[in-house]
Amino acid sequence: MVDEIANIAFIGLGAMGAGMAANLAKAGYRVYAFDVVAEAVSAAVSAGCLATNSIGEAVADAHVVITMLPTGDHVREVHAGAGGVLAHACKGALLLDCSTIAVEDARSLAAQAEAHGFAMCDAPVSGGVTAAQAGTLTFMVGGSSNHVEASKPVLSAMGKAVIHAGEAGAGQAAKICNNMLLAVTMIGTCEAFVLAERLGLDPKAFFDIASQSSGQSWSMTSYAPVPGLVPTAPSNRDFANGFAGALMLKDLRLALQANDSVDLRPALALKAEEIYSEYVVNYAPNRDFSGVIDMLRNR
Ligand code: NAD
Repeated sequence: MVDEIANIAFIGLGAMGAGMAANLAKAGYRVYAFDVVAEAVSAAVSAGCLATNSIGEAVADAHVVITMLPTGDHVREVHAGAGGVLAHACKGALLLDCSTIAVEDARSLAAQAEAHGFAMCDAPVSGGVTAAQAGTLTFMVGGSSNHVEASKPVLSAMGKAVIHAGEAGAGQAAKICNNMLLAVTMIGTCEAFVLAERLGLDPKAFFDIASQSSGQSWSMTSYAPVPGLVPTAPSNRDFANGFAGALMLKDLRLALQANDSVDLRPALALKAEEIYSEYVVNYAPNRDFSGVIDMLRNR
């Protein structure tokens, strides 16, 4: 592995990747940015990154390659597809996939990377778009200790915490357990706000009480689904630019797939999957997942 990391390839400059790449550039890294959407690359250039036209060009001089892509299929294609990372990355490059994908996919990609002579860690994130922009993400990292140690300075430029979860795939395992919990707490929080409204409670009064009582959770205090309570929450911008309902559904399905693999049938997560499936069909799939409150309100 390289001793000094100066050049980073960043592939996938969407809602999350844009802020993350910008923070790496701000920290002084040379960031080679690539996305299939040209406007996303232009925005990254305005934030201090260097434009590239292909994966091969992005990784040609990179000591670290970061991917922040929608699904496991995208991550596999970008790494193992023709013209992908494994065919073009520099010898000794460290590959960090920050997307949320299946545990099994992360493990098989790490093995494939190793067979090509690369170290790879899964490093999914918690925190959302605001944290990606502010550089306050939490990274949960799966991989060998020495590779995770090597990733820390880079990940720390984009986050407030970098936690070694275990061997390859352990970061994704932690992420889907976390998001399964989030899916359920958000629905519970929305149902509580809807009931509070129907009982004539002022949402602000309910928020002030619940956020300091036993009903408190991240869904309440950082992401309240009712506007006017948490300034950075997507509810204040009609649920735009947040964590898409479709992505929450994707994570929930990854969690259910993992539950199946160990013979578990989680009652609340199964119900949450039904609710977010209905939400994604009836509202725009890229609308933030906390907007499910509108659907629950109309039931
Ligand atoms: P996004 O759809 O906004 O961004 C993905 C980007 O990848 C897009 O710009 C897209 O053009 C690009 N892309 C797709 N295929 C590509 C390819 N072959 N080559 C290069 N670029 C390609 O998604 P996002 O919200 O940024 O989420 C990214 C990942 O992070 C997902 O796995 C998601 O589950 C996870 N995540 C998202 C959030 C959130 O709040 N949005 C929070 C935590 C984790």
